[in-house]
Amino acid sequence: MTRIWNFSAGPATLPEAVLRQAQAELLDWHGVGASIMEMSHRGQYFTEVIQTAEANLRELLAIPQNYKVLFLQGGATLQFSAVPMNLLNGRSADYVATGTWSKKAHQEAGRIGKARLAGSTEQAGQPADGFIRLPRQDELNLDPQAAYLHLCTNETIHGVEFLSEARLPQAPANVPIVADMSSHILSRPVEISRYGLIYAGAQKNIAPSGLTLVIVREDLMGHAAMNIPRLLDYKTQAENDSMLNTPTTFAIYMAGLVFQWLKAQGGLPRMAEINRKKAALLYAAIDNSQGFYTNPVAPECRSLMNIPFRLPCVEQEAEFVRASEAAGFMGLKGHKSVGGIRASLYNAMPLAGVEALARFMREFSRQHG
Ligand code: PMP
Repeated sequence: MTRIWNFSAGPATLPEAVLRQAQAELLDWHGVGASIMEMSHRGQYFTEVIQTAEANLRELLAIPQNYKVLFLQGGATLQFSAVPMNLLNGRSADYVATGTWSKKAHQEAGRIGKARLAGSTEQAGQPADGFIRLPRQDELNLDPQAAYLHLCTNETIHGVEFLSEARLPQAPANVPIVADMSSHILSRPVEISRYGLIYAGAQKNIAPSGLTLVIVREDLMGHAAMNIPRLLDYKTQAENDSMLNTPTTFAIYMAGLVFQWLKAQGGLPRMAEINRKKAALLYAAIDNSQGFYTNPVAPECRSLMNIPFRLPCVEQEAEFVRASEAAGFMGLKGHKSVGGIRASLYNAMPLAGVEALARFMREFSRQHG
């Protein structure tokens, strides 16, 4: 069996060691004689799995005691609705658009209540590469009474990332920041206390699809509109240990294995170091190509996780995708809304995979440049 280098944006590559462990435990989890996916979510064994997963996640991200961790379903997209349903409480929220996902979050929140666009970096007339930077503070029009300020801290399609908490906008006093971290959660240490709520679909940097993580400060719970589905109410979910109904047990188990793997790698400081190295290698392959490959994003906010780039023409891009697949790479075709190429370098992508891609890119541009 040959595992190929999978640069897919998500569902994405998982650590090989984790897949092997899951394979070894698939039929008989820890000598119990049944698969973890066949066990009751309320039984002793799965309880152990979810509690260990939460404890390891708390350790990895240094999550303070006054934050709850919820293991939910519905993807990050359902959080686009759940966040305003839980936090608006009759008020208005501010959204900053830095790419497709924050724009979608804003649109979806507008269906629930009042969602203001407090700033946008979209460039008029350039639909393909319309988002290439983060906003400056003086470009934002922030409401001091907002229920929250929503950001997508890594734009998966445009490759624009808030690379540290120092890059976050200054929110007005008492306005919590809500962050969609779907495509870079666990890629570096995060100052959790800078956020009121963090959410992330698991299928990029954590686990298979189906699981959505929510990390929420306790005082932000309990203000949901009375008529919202109980499944979407953070307080009810927290009170029921994310088991108001049957949770996505297998994805939670897989997330738990990934958290253990991350700890064994040296935790998030070490992952951040490797991720910086991998991204630097790929950006160098782009920037040193004499303009054959181009990435339009401002250097100080170039994503370490999702790296979109263009070739001189769409025919060459199609040829690049075809040749890359023949050479043992997968998932390099850009998102359909923007075209081009995109390489996603999540935690589970080894340095060797990025080195192989950079070599392939140099060879391809030599032949086609
Ligand atoms: N937010 C971001 C940043 C994403 O990358 C994605 C998925 N690509 C979503 C939200 C939507 O996630 P889901 O498909 O889990 O609803």
